[in-house]
Amino acid sequence: MQISALKWVLILGLSAGLSTPVAARSVKRWHDKMPPAPGAPRSIGAYTSGCIQGAQALPSTGPGFQTIRRSRQRFFGHPSLIQYIRELGHIMDTENLGILSIGDLGQARGGPMPSAHLSHQTGLDVDMWFWLQPKSRPMTPAERETAQPPSMIANGRLALHPKRWTSRQMRLMEAAASFESVERIFVTPTIKQALCKAFPGAAWLRKVRPWWGHRAHLHVRLRCPHGDPACVSQPPPPEGTGCDATLAWWFTDEARRPSGGKSKPVPMPEACQAVLAQ
Ligand SMILES: [Zn+2]
Repeated sequence: MQISALKWVLILGLSAGLSTPVAARSVKRWHDKMPPAPGAPRSIGAYTSGCIQGAQALPSTGPGFQTIRRSRQRFFGHPSLIQYIRELGHIMDTENLGILSIGDLGQARGGPMPSAHLSHQTGLDVDMWFWLQPKSRPMTPAERETAQPPSMIANGRLALHPKRWTSRQMRLMEAAASFESVERIFVTPTIKQALCKAFPGAAWLRKVRPWWGHRAHLHVRLRCPHGDPACVSQPPPPEGTGCDATLAWWFTDEARRPSGGKSKPVPMPEACQAVLAQ
């Protein structure tokens, strides 16, 4: 999920009872370049208000994946997220589906970012492009700094792009959602609709949640790791595949006008101040 930096600062300011300049300084502290906090891996707090100790860095490239815009320093995550990306890359590689382009994970110690995301704060979220780079021609490091992912949607929002969306993207979604560790995957409603048609009744469809944006990338969110008591998970998605009236709602006029401000601000856990200070 993405949100403008200004809106983010406003939300943080409200939640903490702080003036906007102080909130902006707080974001900068998390963004300042620093190594991961030492210690055993721990995701602390909520996806939209938390931090991580003992994060790992995802390498620049590996079998079946390449990372995008590394200069942003958002390639850190919980070891379970790093393992997930490696395993998904392995599937892409062995099934010759193309190279998966990995966008933002989180910062070295998690926390709020100066742009783009409200979540991605506990090392358990990752954005990945639907567009799959041909294996014969990986992007150069310079290309990976500036490339933009192409949208999978044509004709406004009602149809998938006939050339870009292929059986390989279907397989990517199936593989990505089938891991037990996955809590949710956010995609544009048109993609969820296509998956409902292609995989009727598949249990993993429950995890695939329609959301605004997400036409060019999927956002994977992992569950709180086992034995991580300070990690705050989300309520599970409603029972069933979600290929029902709740999906149809996304194609109504009401859904086209997002009301905004739906997510309630959550205060940052006290333990995150210690993670920042280490
Ligand atoms: Zn995201």
